[in-house]
Amino acid sequence: MNRTLFYCLMFVFILASGLLAACAQATPTPAPTVAPTAAPKPTVAPTIAPTTAPTAAPTVAKRDLRREKLAANDGWAAQGNGTSGGAAATADQVYTVKNRKELIAALNDGKYPPPSTTPSNTAKIIYIDGTIDANVDDNNKPLTCQDYARDGYTIQAYNAAFDPATWGRKAVSGTLETARVTSQKAQDERVRIRVGSNTTIVGLGQKAMLRGAWFDVRGTATAPLSNIIIRNITFQDTFDCFPQWDPTDGAEGNWNSLYDAISLRYVDHVWIDHNTFEDRDTADSKAPTYFGRHFEQHDGTLDITNAADLVTVSWNKFQNHDKTMLIGSSDTGATATGDRGKLRVTLHHNFFDNTGQRTPRVRFGQVHVYNNYYRIVDNPKYGYSWGVGIESQIYAENNYFKTDDKVVLAKIIGNYKGTAIYAAGTRVNDKDVDLLAAHNAANETKIAAKVDWKPTLVVKVDPIESVISTVESGAGPINW
Ligand code: CA
Ligand code: CA
Repeated sequence: MNRTLFYCLMFVFILASGLLAACAQATPTPAPTVAPTAAPKPTVAPTIAPTTAPTAAPTVAKRDLRREKLAANDGWAAQGNGTSGGAAATADQVYTVKNRKELIAALNDGKYPPPSTTPSNTAKIIYIDGTIDANVDDNNKPLTCQDYARDGYTIQAYNAAFDPATWGRKAVSGTLETARVTSQKAQDERVRIRVGSNTTIVGLGQKAMLRGAWFDVRGTATAPLSNIIIRNITFQDTFDCFPQWDPTDGAEGNWNSLYDAISLRYVDHVWIDHNTFEDRDTADSKAPTYFGRHFEQHDGTLDITNAADLVTVSWNKFQNHDKTMLIGSSDTGATATGDRGKLRVTLHHNFFDNTGQRTPRVRFGQVHVYNNYYRIVDNPKYGYSWGVGIESQIYAENNYFKTDDKVVLAKIIGNYKGTAIYAAGTRVNDKDVDLLAAHNAANETKIAAKVDWKPTLVVKVDPIESVISTVESGAGPINW
């Protein structure tokens, strides 16, 4: 053996020993998820394992929303037995619906027209497949506002009759107001969709849409509804063809409409999750002005009133709407009596994008508002975000506001005869701010910084740093 060969062999030996030592050190911590590259033969091309192979490393599993229940401790709707919607449905109560008629039948034990205005409380799961328009006839032919007009109603005739210059400032009445009410009822019969107890309604995939519909979720004071899940649906353009002119509403009068996208009344244990609510074709910015006032064709988006209770509203997008979420409808009277001790709502990880007001506006309820993202940019109609109403108990944590310089800090909290709000961890445009201190500094009537409850039904409050990215990527319908 010559000297050169000897050194060469020594070199190879040392190199190999070093490699072996390195491998031995590396082996205790193999990457657990990278299965295919662990193939022992380096000559085998490290292809990706076929999808049929049961041993393939699992990627992110698609979620299956069908029978999902609200997670334990996920907000007020998790109280007691929690919220399972139609998870217990038998096979004959699982429906996939593609139009208004099929949707209404599914809510009424498969019957159309429904035998009564009381929907079925039998456990049921309803998948929304594609776009369902509520403004259609029984053959799914679109109906326009003109199709609903009755007894000579036109907006021109209505406005001619009630022009303040001639009619004055008294409440409207007479032939044209009666015609408006009759016309409104004709639309109401098509767009109002009643939902019963023990129901899950969930959009298939990411593109399920309900256009022009009003989900009227309403029990009675003595027989409230219970246990309802509404998820993964885009609610678009819920609108009233026949707004009423009310000359006595405010100093200049107002146009008022019926129909929220969802109304919750006399119902408990409701989970509203991963939906988008938006006005598009009927956006306020496109509406005319009559008598100097905006022709408002919308009411609320998600109104929670009349002793509704134990509601979790999570991961929704609320876009381009003025009055968004009213919690409690009146300071006094019968509803106020029933509301006291109820209206308990949790709002988390929702994206309020250019909403005008009421996000939420609260009377009476203990309302937990955390990890929501509010974007208020170029919105001339912005009023306020958190309405502190009579006997309300808002507990707000780690909410993020992104605003332009037209939004005054002191106006983000609005006082509507309230006395208290807890608000911590709020950030506005990268700065930690005390919204209540800003409000109190600008107003004679002060609001106390302490409420008499502390939320216990919480999965996790995220740090403020992650709120924008988490909510922007996670809110609204998910692809499944
Ligand atoms: Ca109204
Ligand atoms: Ca309403």
